[in-house]
This record gives sequence, structure tokens and C-alpha cells, in this order.
Amino acid sequence: MTPMDAAVDVSPEPNFPAAEGAALRRVTILGSTGSIGCNTIDLIARHPGAFEVEALTAQRRVDRLAEQARAVGAKQAVIGDPTLHGALEEALADTETVAAAGPEALVEAAAAPADFVMAGIVGAAGLRPTLAAAAQGTIIGLANKECLVCAGSLLLAEVERGGATLLPVDSEHNAIYQVFDFERSEGVEKIVLTASGGPFREATMETMAAATPEQAVAHPNWDMGAKISVDSATMMNKGLEMIEAFHLFPVDAEQIEVLVHPQSVIHSMVAYVDGSVLAQLGTPDMRTPIAYSLAWPARIAAPSPKLDLAALGRLTFEPPDPVRFPALRLARDALTQGGSAPIVLNAANEVAVGGFLDRRIGFLAIAETVERCLEQTNHRAVTGLDDVYEIDRAARDLAERLLADAG
Ligand code: NAD
Ligand code: MG
Repeated sequence: MTPMDAAVDVSPEPNFPAAEGAALRRVTILGSTGSIGCNTIDLIARHPGAFEVEALTAQRRVDRLAEQARAVGAKQAVIGDPTLHGALEEALADTETVAAAGPEALVEAAAAPADFVMAGIVGAAGLRPTLAAAAQGTIIGLANKECLVCAGSLLLAEVERGGATLLPVDSEHNAIYQVFDFERSEGVEKIVLTASGGPFREATMETMAAATPEQAVAHPNWDMGAKISVDSATMMNKGLEMIEAFHLFPVDAEQIEVLVHPQSVIHSMVAYVDGSVLAQLGTPDMRTPIAYSLAWPARIAAPSPKLDLAALGRLTFEPPDPVRFPALRLARDALTQGGSAPIVLNAANEVAVGGFLDRRIGFLAIAETVERCLEQTNHRAVTGLDDVYEIDRAARDLAERLLADAG
């Protein structure tokens, strides 16, 4: 089922909220040790009797994974790095949780029957597990935007084929999902993705050139993983989100606009042809969109601070600056170009952000590396997943070479 159908047709039948004697909603969390994963666990822990945890996965953090599995009584825990299998088994020795390891085990965990799978892995590494979740026809809470950026139509086709339901967890897309009239989309004029502007919204080019990883990850409003925090600082995050929105909603690329809104209270908006603008608001706390997806189509309480507009006083808006934030232009061009371009954009960005976090390149070199990679690739059409993996691999190799030359 596509997100459009999802608004009308609520199959697979949700068994939530759990009525007396009804089955609990079985949840799997891919990337449970990350920011999205921990927030999801937090909500599950606050609603005893509503959820049971099928599987939790992480890449390397054995201690946190084992602690989470213990806290929620997970049936299985999977660590992506196979060398950590023994350590995970040891950490779970006195529990009922089954330990597994390796990339195939991650995919199997995503395919294990569950009513809801949180796709909370960071980067294109989450694609195969997310596809496996789609194939089993479950409800997917999609935080892992890179999956849609590099394989949007393939993932949506798998969602359709498997009879799955895709619910956007990214706050902007979750906002749009809540106010988009999927049945009468011809009445939509445009969607407006709001952006905080990140930590360097008002910084000069000189400040940005000298920015450290510590400064770049210090997001003014949101507490998130390192990669998305750097993406917010370059505004590549908003670029990736434009591509994400293009796949999730029935709009053309030109109908997707970006507006800087430093308070992150209006999470995004849909403008209709009659002049009506519908928005979803809330304090910047991911537990709101996560709670929306976890309980969908019901609502559950989230501990996010309540919105107090009188205390806030005012909300402000400004256009994004294309000169200091070239990533927005790169992403829009990649979206327009299609084919291999978004895959290259994403892969090069993942490598460049890694290089910046490792202090191998400066902050401004992130977007420069992405631009060079896009320029130096012979772009082509994408017909299947093999193409996606091949283009992704080649773009990572090229970006690594560019980083080595720059360093
Ligand atoms: P994070 O870095 O905090 O956590 C990432 C998780 O993925 C961890 O559990 C990690 O173990 C796992 N992981 C990392 N590399 C992996 C690999 N190669 N294979 C398998 N698992 C791997 O990231 P995050 O901030 O929670 O973000 C997760 C996703 O959600 C990203 O795509 C991000 O863009 C998106 N998102 C996050 C937020 C947020 O508030 N954090 C908001 C909107 C969207
Ligand atoms: Mg977002």
C-alpha cells in the first residue's frame, strides 16, 4: 500500500490500542541504539501492555543493545558487526533473548513477523532490512530517509507488492502526512518543508570553513544522531527531505518548497489551491511523530513538552541562503535529474560527512565533495536494486578518492 492509499485504507488491521485480551502490537526496531531507536524504546516503556518487542538491532553498541533487550524483553537482538556475536551472546546469557549477528541476520530480523517495524538505521545501510520489512507487509515507521533517497520507487514498489503501509517518521513528512488530502491531491498547490537552519544559520562562510564536528553536531532544537546533525548543519538534510517528500507525496518536484523557521514549531505545511494552508505544530521532540506512527491509526500519549505558543511569543520565517548552503541546490538538481543522481548525492554525502566527523576534511568540503562526485559520475538510469548497490558503491569509492586527495 502506498502512503496515499494508507490514508483511506487501514489494512493490515491494526490491533491497537490493545483491547482486553487482544494481541499486543508486535514491534521490531531497526537501529534501536540510535536516537530514533532510543526514543521508540522510551515510548514503548511508557505504555506497558500495549507493545511486545520482537527484535532489536544495532551495528556495534553491544552494551546498549543488550540493556534494551533486557528492559523490554525482546525476543531477539541482532548486532550488525559479526565480530561482536560472542560479546552479545555473553551479555544476554541469562535472558530469553536470542542473539544473532551479521548483515543477513539484520535482514532476517526485519523479516520476522511483526505488526510494526521502525526503520531507524542511518544511511543507505538500512535499505535491505527496510525492503525486507516491506516484503512482509507490515506497518513501517520510516525514519531512515536515505532509503527513499537512493531507492524511492523500488522501495515503494516493494511496499505495494508486500501490502505494507509506510508511515513517515521524519517530523516534516509526518506533519505533511497528517494534513495532506490524499483523496483530492489535485487541490494541493505545494508542500512547504520547514527547516531550522541548523547551528550555522547565521554563521559567516569563514566561521563555517573553520567549523569543528562538535560545533556542527550541536543542533539548536533537535537532539539527533551525528550524521543527521551534520546534514542539518549543511542543510543537506533538507535536500534529502525534498527527495523523500517527492516519493512520499503525489506532488511534482517544483511543488516542494523549503522555508527556514528557526523555532522548529511548525513541522511543515500543505498549501491548497484555495489559499488554505494546513500545518502540524508541536515542540521539537521526535517522540511525537514516533508515537503517531507506533500507534497509528490510534493516538497514544507522548512525553514531549506541550506547545505553549503564548510563552513562545512569536514564530519567524526566512528563505534559505543558497550561497552558504549549496547542498540544497545539489539535492534539487539530483531530484530533477533522477536516475543515478540521488544515489550518488546520498553516497557521496555519507562518505563526506564521515570524513568531516573524522576531521579529514573541513565543513565546507562536505558539499564540495558531493558536487565533485555528481560532476564526475556518468549518470544513468536505474532499473533495479543491483543498479542502486552498484552506483552507491562506485560513488563511495569516488568520494573516498576525493577525500584522500583533499586530505
Ligand atoms: P543514530 O546514528 O543515532 O542511530 C543509528 C542506528 O543505526 C544505530 O542503532 C546504529 O547501530 C545503526 N546503524 C548504524 N550503521 C549501521 C549499519 N551499517 N548497519 C546497520 N545498522 C546500523 O541515527 P539517528 O539520528 O537515530 O537517525 C536514524 C535515521 O533516522 C537516519 O536516517 C536519520 O536521517 C533519520 N531521522 C532521525 C531523526 C532524529 O531525531 N534522530 C529525525 C528524523 C529522521
Ligand atoms: Mg526532518
